[in-house]
Amino acid sequence: MAENSGIEWTTHTFNPWIGCTKVSPACDHCYAEAWDKRFNGERWGPHAPRTRTKTWGNPIKWNKQAAISGERPRVFCASLADVFDNHRTIEPTWRRELWALIRQTPNLDWLLLTKRPSNIAKMLPDDWGNGYANVWLGATVENQAAANRIDDLTKVPARIRFLSMEPLVGPVDLSAHIQNLHWVITGGENGTHYRPADPDWFRSIRDQCAGAGVPFLFKQWEGRNQKEIKAKGRALDDVVHDGYPA
Ligand code: SF4
Repeated sequence: MAENSGIEWTTHTFNPWIGCTKVSPACDHCYAEAWDKRFNGERWGPHAPRTRTKTWGNPIKWNKQAAISGERPRVFCASLADVFDNHRTIEPTWRRELWALIRQTPNLDWLLLTKRPSNIAKMLPDDWGNGYANVWLGATVENQAAANRIDDLTKVPARIRFLSMEPLVGPVDLSAHIQNLHWVITGGENGTHYRPADPDWFRSIRDQCAGAGVPFLFKQWEGRNQKEIKAKGRALDDVVHDGYPA
């Protein structure tokens, strides 16, 4: 739970609670589960309780700092959970208080990324309307089978809709959906048991985004650890792609 994230595309990470259940191949080597095991958290799986964190004051602090600096930090929520997880131990008050926190921090852009976009609509606050101005909704799509998540994502009104295609584990045709997206991030897998990615999978997503005018960010190649990944650089065919939504 780093305050300032090492993740390329966000300024901060915030976890309202911790714990999750694996739902798809992108979860196979879930770093959050491995992190939890190291600390004997036992918060992964359908029978494991999620636990609320004590870091809810951080976004308030970041919001005040942003008001002074004039910058607009991005907050990734959540790196150690899925914010649209419908597990029975996530109390309705937690989610209500999270929406209240988001409303209280208008100087932050909240990136709510999920592998459960079919749950989004029923978990939105009553005053969602066409979407909060400071919320970006995203879905993870790691292969073609997971692309059906985009249907659920695009049914929900949102200022920004984005995909995290990381770890990419297969080619994906986005043609049915790309006109409804505002941003696409992709990258290879990090970890001892990383799955090699075919560079053509990344090239195809780059070209699909370019064809539709959708900002594209290539985060990283795959590798066993950050040292190995950083040594490979961030270029795809000699170009670093660092697109963000306007
Ligand atoms: S949804 Fe995210 S946090 Fe949950 S198991 Fe999958 S990778 Fe881990």
